[in-house]
Amino acid sequence: MEIKFVGTGGAFDAQYGNSSAVIRIGNKTVLLDCGSTVFSSLQTAQLLREIDYVLITHFHDDHIGSLSTLLFYYYVYLKEKEVIILYPTSEFKTMLINYLTFSMISPEKYCSFQPITSFPYILPIDTFGLHVPGLVSYAYYFQEANQAILYSGDIAHPTFLYNFILEQNLQPDYIFHEISFFPSSVHSYYREVFPYLEIAPTFGYHCDPSQNPSDNIIPLVYNSSFLFSQSL
Ligand SMILES: [Zn+2]
Repeated sequence: MEIKFVGTGGAFDAQYGNSSAVIRIGNKTVLLDCGSTVFSSLQTAQLLREIDYVLITHFHDDHIGSLSTLLFYYYVYLKEKEVIILYPTSEFKTMLINYLTFSMISPEKYCSFQPITSFPYILPIDTFGLHVPGLVSYAYYFQEANQAILYSGDIAHPTFLYNFILEQNLQPDYIFHEISFFPSSVHSYYREVFPYLEIAPTFGYHCDPSQNPSDNIIPLVYNSSFLFSQSL
């Protein structure tokens, strides 16, 4: 398994790209989130044609805003290859189709939808209401052979996910956790993540690295080898 981020910024940190990652797992390439800047980042990184599956954490534009562009691209330029969108629940599938219908009219003409259980390497973790009250959202746990990683998605506090790891006896090799450098009601303040750092090597994303406070002990994906641009 391999994970490379194509962007690590928050919603308003467009210069760092919307947070998104490409994960090589089960001999397939999974795009995790496809926010507004992601199509262009994939194009620049020459990754556009590599995507087999798309997985979405939630419906904010910085996580899904260029998905229809990606699907149109595959339909127009890569007719022999179809993107498969994995969905954690039938409710989520309905939301995806409703969202995409506004720009695509018939989204199922351009891609196929499969339950996440059809690709047995990813465990969805329901974080409903924990990013924004009332908002459907998911974290995802990727596991192949004896390698595992946890991807938090957007979440207001880290406690739930760390309790989930302990309760389910998950043993991630790496945790990628969203962090905010400013107190926020919808994102995890970086200091709240400190008590959990001994569980697994943890990297922060969904933030502006130029604002990194001097007392932050969480390494950033932006400065790591997990950022795609640094491995080119
Ligand atoms: Zn969000």
